[in-house]
Amino acid sequence: MPDQPTYTGNPNSHPPSSFSTNLSGTCLCGSILVTIKDDSLFDSPNGRGHLCHCANCRKVAGSYVSSNLAIEKEKVEIWDQKGTLKEYEDWATGSGKCVVRKFCGNCGPIASYAQASPDKVILKMGIFPRIPKPEAESFALHRHDWQGTHEGVAQFEIARGGKKLGE
Ligand SMILES: [Zn+2]
Ligand SMILES: [Zn+2]
Repeated sequence: MPDQPTYTGNPNSHPPSSFSTNLSGTCLCGSILVTIKDDSLFDSPNGRGHLCHCANCRKVAGSYVSSNLAIEKEKVEIWDQKGTLKEYEDWATGSGKCVVRKFCGNCGPIASYAQASPDKVILKMGIFPRIPKPEAESFALHRHDWQGTHEGVAQFEIARGGKKLGE
């Protein structure tokens, strides 16, 4: 297990170059530590990760959108340092397939495992000190009308890779 990372709350004080091989973050209480081992989190021309506006992600995030990264399971390590990691089986999904939602029992969301894509883990990016520019938005049909747009970020009506908004 790596040392407990210490970061300021300001993403701009952590240059992308400091995450050239990996990115670590913790939940709010510090119990759960997550490391992503990937060497192109911040230098992919199209961005990495996605913003999801689906109702389930909104509830989990406690916000109008969730910042997510779907990534190969083998690139991610999750340490449950104080035994607080819990899970919720979410069957109220559009696909009808289960999404296992992992969260810190003390403080908040960590990751999801979707039956529909068994080789990936979907990380909740708010726990990391800096979040890559997302490459896409999913459930863009469910955006609130007061939200601004993100230039260069693909908007899918519902699922990523599906029909694009306005097409
Ligand atoms: Zn916690
Ligand atoms: Zn979602």
